[in-house]
Amino acid sequence: MRFGLYVHFPFCIRKCSYCDFYTVPFDEESVSRYQTFLKTELDMWAKEVNGTVNTVYIGGGSPSIWPFRGFSDLIEHVSRSFDFLPVEFTLECNPQELVDERLESWRALGVNRLSVGVQNTSKSLLGRVGRSVPVDLYSRLRKASSLFDNLNLDFILGLPGENTETVEANLTLIEALLPEHLSYYVLDRYNESDLMRQYYNGRIGLPNTEQLYQMHDLILDRLGSMGYTRYEVSSWQMKGFECLHNLAYWRNKDYLGVGASAGGHFKNIRYVNISDIASFSEMLGRGVFPREYYSENSPIQELIEGLFMGLRMTAGIDLADLMPDDSDLVAQMASLLKSVFGDHVSLRGSKVSFTSEGLDLTNQLLQRLSEHKEEISGVFSSRDTGYSNKH
Ligand code: SF4
Repeated sequence: MRFGLYVHFPFCIRKCSYCDFYTVPFDEESVSRYQTFLKTELDMWAKEVNGTVNTVYIGGGSPSIWPFRGFSDLIEHVSRSFDFLPVEFTLECNPQELVDERLESWRALGVNRLSVGVQNTSKSLLGRVGRSVPVDLYSRLRKASSLFDNLNLDFILGLPGENTETVEANLTLIEALLPEHLSYYVLDRYNESDLMRQYYNGRIGLPNTEQLYQMHDLILDRLGSMGYTRYEVSSWQMKGFECLHNLAYWRNKDYLGVGASAGGHFKNIRYVNISDIASFSEMLGRGVFPREYYSENSPIQELIEGLFMGLRMTAGIDLADLMPDDSDLVAQMASLLKSVFGDHVSLRGSKVSFTSEGLDLTNQLLQRLSEHKEEISGVFSSRDTGYSNKH
């Protein structure tokens, strides 16, 4: 069995106002204590699972500030705990840490994919959200690109002050570097960040919907003409460099998540760890998995999760994979999805995907689907199949 491993490093130098991830201020002593508990959690998992780690993703937080000795110690611990043969080993980075010494060390440790949170190239725009940008951003990224065959850049669309010129500047940077992978997210206006509180209190403005659509269309056009292929709502790849680790999420495959607030899916278990580091450490100190959410999914729940994840990809899903050997059930499901999504979905035999317009409405459409969960369960549990809710 092969599975992905996600390690969460929640420490940051400062908090960006748009961010609602669980983060805590960085200090070396706290990192060192946290690391001890990460190893405990890994040890507990190593007793439960057999198999090969084939993708690793170190995310955060800001894992690029992880002192190298500690980071390397953790990776050695992972490689002793599991059969460790990662074909893809991603480290999330901030541009500030893209310096020669760190780049060389990460590479020596086996990192083969860098995911850099650029977010925007405008200094004044990022300044408004409490984030800095190095003056030599381009040369840092160029250096990273020369050392790593697989580079991802993350951007966010729709921060305060965003306009066509700032988007053009981002696209110019992308065109000059042509990284293998891009993630271009639209700012989530429902997150619980400081920025969104300021917005809803009327203290700041954000681009309106029409401006957002225009800028998004510009991004779609330009990335397409640069040779990028969109393969997920917010993800583009060039030359086949899809993110293997994220593909496993969207295909509802197995991955372990370790660390505060990390989530995982293993066989039919779905879990999310507690966010608070103190509680995380206390539970592991008692030898208990630090879970805030835990579900032993029934086959129906697995199927619904498979739908929710899979529809984020441009390729969509093949219902026949989710419901093998039951063409009647596949047909019923396809017709139910058609009735929920209308013209936003495309059906080709058992294959279902959102149209390009539908893809841009993914969150709303999935919200609509969640209102039909009972109906979906009903379709399956009414039949004499292995999909009974009693599993
Ligand atoms: S956006 Fe990244 S660097 Fe900023 S607070 Fe969130 S996790 Fe930390």
